[in-house]
Amino acid sequence: MAPVRASCNGPPEKGLLRVDLTSVPTLRASTALGFGALALREEPLLRVPQDNLKGFLSSSAPEIFAELAVRLGDEQRLGVFAAFLLLSEGKQQVLLGMGLPPGSQVLEANEKAIAAFLRDFPTYSGALDWQLFARVVAIVSERGTRLPSEQGGCHVVYEHSDLASHSCCPNAVVETLSDDGLRELRVLSYEGIAENEEVTVSYVPEELLLQPLPDRSRGISELRQGYLCRCPRCKLSDEMPNLTEVSKDLKLDLALEDLQQRLHKLKQVDVALPFAMASKARVRFRLAQACERPLPSEAKKLYEDAFDETDIVLGQKGLRNVSNIKRRLEQLDT
Ligand SMILES: [Zn+2]
Repeated sequence: MAPVRASCNGPPEKGLLRVDLTSVPTLRASTALGFGALALREEPLLRVPQDNLKGFLSSSAPEIFAELAVRLGDEQRLGVFAAFLLLSEGKQQVLLGMGLPPGSQVLEANEKAIAAFLRDFPTYSGALDWQLFARVVAIVSERGTRLPSEQGGCHVVYEHSDLASHSCCPNAVVETLSDDGLRELRVLSYEGIAENEEVTVSYVPEELLLQPLPDRSRGISELRQGYLCRCPRCKLSDEMPNLTEVSKDLKLDLALEDLQQRLHKLKQVDVALPFAMASKARVRFRLAQACERPLPSEAKKLYEDAFDETDIVLGQKGLRNVSNIKRRLEQLDT
């Protein structure tokens, strides 16, 4: 399965990715990138603190913001706009230039809500640039993400990686490394990313990507406010290979024929879903254990692939898993 991965030590070279501004901004590879390559490392463009939003509004925003937050019953959106106004003009333009993904309904919904508010409270019509407010809030809600609570839970937007579209067959993955929101983007597809190819990530948990089309569409729509996925995989009604068939009742003393069947099924899964997944790495590891005695060279290959796959998908979170795999590999070699 996995071709030899690119070296991904140290910071990525500059300019591996570019933003295509022709229509809706998209993220593309400026050059061919190998499996596992570190394509981008970036800090958030915008950061909206979550732990004390009220304090942030009263200390950093114009006075009217705290009053509006009460009137609107919405600290969150005013916090986003206050953080936006604190950016330099250049960064404000970058954020506005990120635009909205095709099919987004958020801007219209915001504008309607604001119009309704201003009908009830016309005295506030000059309090803000409401059009800009609606646009900024829409972009941040569509493009932005929440950092995990152990990393402060800030609402953040990244200039480049947040332009990557969703795909059910993603070719990249992002990982947040530290509390200040430093994020890395790595190549996930076994074949790498070709020059000029669009960079895609999954907006939904990996388990959903293993579901057949109807269940997957329903799950994505539930998680992403009615989002209808139009990725290449969803446009074809894909025949779903079943990873559980590889892992079901997987024991250490399986017959050779059974092991070979499972290896074959795993290859089919890799062909249908040609990108690294933590669940595939787990299955690979367990299958490798069962193969150690009867099929040592297959076991070695499975361990090596599981190692790369875990390292790329889980990054720092996978450190313990990769050290387990490494140990098995060393024992096989002795
Ligand atoms: Zn899809």
